[in-house]
Amino acid sequence: MIPAIEVRDLRFSYHDEKAALHGVSFSIQEGESVALVGPNGAGKSTLLQHLNGLLPEKFGPNPAVAIFGRPVSTESLDETHRKVGFLFQESDDQLFCPTVHEDVAFGPQQFGHGEAEISRIVRDSLGKVGLQGFDDRIPHHLSAGEKQRVCLAGILACEPSILVLDEPTSDLDPRSKRGLIALLKSLSVTKVIASHDLELVVQLCPRTILLDAGHAVADGPTIRLLADEALMLEHGLEKPHSLQHGHPHGNTSSNPNLFT
Ligand code: ADP
Repeated sequence: MIPAIEVRDLRFSYHDEKAALHGVSFSIQEGESVALVGPNGAGKSTLLQHLNGLLPEKFGPNPAVAIFGRPVSTESLDETHRKVGFLFQESDDQLFCPTVHEDVAFGPQQFGHGEAEISRIVRDSLGKVGLQGFDDRIPHHLSAGEKQRVCLAGILACEPSILVLDEPTSDLDPRSKRGLIALLKSLSVTKVIASHDLELVVQLCPRTILLDAGHAVADGPTIRLLADEALMLEHGLEKPHSLQHGHPHGNTSSNPNLFT
């Protein structure tokens, strides 16, 4: 089966800085929900940005990333952006229209839909994130949780096959966080989620990739990886509270694939 995401020996440096990614490889099948964890500076954001071509200046002759078998390159950028919805860590980086309706409508408008169809898509998308009736609100006057849901509505309006989320709960209070987790659980699309929130990871992602200093140091079942206290501490993380006493979720018998 062609993987939804294939990353082969991805290497990347910002300008003349030291390398941020040192040859990362993995593949993700359609429908999987995979967490990307690791300490600050591990390369998580850099890796996520490669999944939808946000760092295009480095496209070489042999692209390291393919989405549903199609290499991510200058020629395939539009198609990649349509297939891969990217939720930025900072909602303010993603919201740029005077009203919520216009922000959510922006994507579908690029696809050439008519006005009636766009209104339907906006209504459906705002409904999915629980923001019915917010059409005329000013995005920058909303709470952090609401802003983030507008961003997500804008992404869902484009009907991506893959959702890439960079630290989706960093600005959220516990109730907003629970709402986001429930919403993401209800979406069957392929998901890649970078997060320091290991409780969210336990709840949403059966599989985790651990990144440190630009290397994928482990890739395996979330509960197995995150319950490994020595592994967590070695890479600047902590075993999540929910795993402190045994393994509450599912089968933990399979071994993670540890690369180091
Ligand atoms: P993480 O998301 O895991 O915190 P990042 O991908 O943001 O890690 O960063 C990986 C490395 O790349 C770090 O050393 C960081 O300082 C560097 N880096 C990130 N963004 C830039 C940038 N725009 N310019 C130069 N270096 C950067």
